[in-house]
Amino acid sequence: MQQLFFSKAVVLALAIAGLVVASNTLTRPVRRGDRSYMRSISEYIDSIADELWPINKELHDNPELGYKEFKAHKLLTSFMESHEGWNVSRSIYGTETAFSAVYEGTGDGPIVSFNAEYDALLGLGHACGHNLIATVAVTGALATAEIMKSENLPGKVILFGTPAEESLGGKVKMLEAGVFHDHNISISLIAHPGLSDTAYMITSSTDRIDLEYYGKTAHAAAAPYEGVNAQDALVLAYNAIAMLRQQSRATDLVHGVITEGGQSINVIPELATASFQIRSKDDSDLAPWTERLLKCFEAGALATGAELNLTMRPYGYSNMVNNELLVDSFYDNYEGLNGTLPDRVTDSMRTPGGSTDQGNIAWEFPSIQPMFAIYNENGSLPSGGPHTAPFEVAAGTKLSFKKALKVAKAMAGVAVDVLTTEGMVDEAWKEIRSLPSRNGISPSRRRRSLKS
Ligand SMILES: [Zn+2]
Ligand SMILES: [Zn+2]
Repeated sequence: MQQLFFSKAVVLALAIAGLVVASNTLTRPVRRGDRSYMRSISEYIDSIADELWPINKELHDNPELGYKEFKAHKLLTSFMESHEGWNVSRSIYGTETAFSAVYEGTGDGPIVSFNAEYDALLGLGHACGHNLIATVAVTGALATAEIMKSENLPGKVILFGTPAEESLGGKVKMLEAGVFHDHNISISLIAHPGLSDTAYMITSSTDRIDLEYYGKTAHAAAAPYEGVNAQDALVLAYNAIAMLRQQSRATDLVHGVITEGGQSINVIPELATASFQIRSKDDSDLAPWTERLLKCFEAGALATGAELNLTMRPYGYSNMVNNELLVDSFYDNYEGLNGTLPDRVTDSMRTPGGSTDQGNIAWEFPSIQPMFAIYNENGSLPSGGPHTAPFEVAAGTKLSFKKALKVAKAMAGVAVDVLTTEGMVDEAWKEIRSLPSRNGISPSRRRRSLKS
């Protein structure tokens, strides 16, 4: 989590922005759903907590990498199928560990969807707590279906199993394959563990680049002038990037690793390789930032005579867009459960941290991804955030599981609000339609191979 400091000017700007947000909220024509549903949601979730805990524990204790979540896929699809009324499809749209589970209401109505992640990190297990993401999604979807059933509501609730969030873009692949459009979803809900509670997930747009410099070997002492030093090309590029940082925005980031630089100290290296990840506030900022970095990579090649091969990895992630109407509903529902959320205006202007493939969905469908604090067995916060060993431990505790159930109650509350409040879907979609163009950048930008 990022610590924020505000200057007086920023505080003034926030205050003005606060007035704008407040007046927007006041003038919205939408009346949200009846809070009385929350009691039923809460009682239902409490009643199934004992069957949910083993699912959460099994996921946590059996971490699997992206697109290899075979146990999780089997566990979650079997679990959903064991509940009456759920129609489960495994390995959908050519992705072996993706799935959908659909519950139909009494006729046409809003289609509310939850995304379950369940991939883990290499060597770190569930250090991003995706077992808890799955728990929130499964629980939220089941509770929403329960209300649909008891209240004879029209519409649908869909639980999507969305694999490979860590770097591999499982949701982008599913989005481009048409999964979410074909299911005609009205909204997309997901929640993520962290070190504090917030309705807003604020993330960067990101791309990943692999590069190779090809040089020419030569005897490093007898005939160095006959060689082309690939390692030098990479070091030059690395230093050019280091200098470029001074002229970057605070939200423009680049980080990477050199994966190969040569084999023998007395041979001019003929191959040097590296991988970089680049991030910006949004896709519009990411495009020019990418161009500037490409110049640094090209500079290494130009100066040394090495040949450069650049490959942009699929799939790039767009920044997360938080649908304000769904955020409204989450605040109402979560605070209704005695949950505490930070001041909305300052929280919504946090510096981005990390990236998520839910961002790509959120540019096309109304979406939120609240974050929630998780705990050690003794109730303390883990000493490290996501992607650290202490976070992996906290992701497996009973207290964190209970917190996930509380968040699931609020998420089901949002879904039921959407199902029961006339005009809420249209209102949420107005926000999607009012988003600025992503600078004409299409997802295919993410696929180009940049051979020079
Ligand atoms: Zn992660
Ligand atoms: Zn994560």
